[in-house]
Amino acid sequence: MRKKRVLIIYTGGTIGMKKTEKGYSPVEGYLSEELKLTSDLLRSDFPEWELYEMSPLLDSSDVTVREWNEIGRVVYENYSHYDGFVVLHGTDTMAYTASALSFILDGLDKPVVLTGSQIPLSELRSDGRENLITSVIIASEGVAREVSLYFSGKLLRGNRATKMSADDLVAFDSPNLPHLADVGIEIKYNYSVLKKASGKPLVLRRFAETPIGVLKVFPGIQFGLFESIMTEKLSGIVLETFGAGNIPSSGGELLPIIRNAFAHGSVVVVCSQCPSGTVTLGAYETGFALKTAGAVSGADMTTEAAVTKLYYLFSLGLSTEQIKEKMEISLRGEMTEY
Ligand code: ASP
Repeated sequence: MRKKRVLIIYTGGTIGMKKTEKGYSPVEGYLSEELKLTSDLLRSDFPEWELYEMSPLLDSSDVTVREWNEIGRVVYENYSHYDGFVVLHGTDTMAYTASALSFILDGLDKPVVLTGSQIPLSELRSDGRENLITSVIIASEGVAREVSLYFSGKLLRGNRATKMSADDLVAFDSPNLPHLADVGIEIKYNYSVLKKASGKPLVLRRFAETPIGVLKVFPGIQFGLFESIMTEKLSGIVLETFGAGNIPSSGGELLPIIRNAFAHGSVVVVCSQCPSGTVTLGAYETGFALKTAGAVSGADMTTEAAVTKLYYLFSLGLSTEQIKEKMEISLRGEMTEY
């Protein structure tokens, strides 16, 4: 039987970083040398793999729409040559990139697994070795045929994942969706959660640079101070509210701002600051007022998913009304439809 082939796309991040005088930094060619020393990757029972190194390599704090599009392009152009793809990425913005790719790769029917590590591969006790080996195996198996994120024994839907810890090795979770698989002695897939094939061919939906903002509500917030940016200057605004979609009642000030922003073509999406649970606009008076002012519910989407979904929908050139409508339905399994 033909050996499965996986393309490993290295974008940067701790996994391949080298210690320098100024701290860890990604260095060209360094990861490929490390991989040659990782004997498991050379075993005959391991899938065939090739490495594609992006340039420049980045700390993921520097990843932008450009890199999301570029990773998407590399997957798209190599789609027929490989059984699956692993994207090595810094952990800080990995959940954003995973969400973005889930929208960019429309009709995806092969695994694209993002992973990285908290400790570089070249260091003692690196978590990168297991994360990489298991990700390549998952990518080769072709069971989770969607954009996913593998980290420390958990395979998560990419657009449901969020970074939960800055220093734990178990750094990611998807609080609003069961894991796609749990990895112990065996890889146990959760078949009822995995995405079904769309049956459509893969289409690359590049994101356009779009002005998006995220505003986190806090007790005593003076919304008036944000009035000057909550205009058509921002096409999409993700409002991180309390609990099920609440803002302080001083938010009365916010409602005309939202109404005005909406009238000028901005879309305001209400997400929750709670990692788990859902926004229900209408459960409380304050949330209901947001809805009547023109805001849409982000339901149980992560901020990462809401931000990248806005990029996606604005890039499609849809009208504000169409974008509002699509924000409230699941396009790639990024939200629960109640
Ligand atoms: N700052 C690093 C990055 O996101 C952290 C990591 O990879 O864990 O690129």
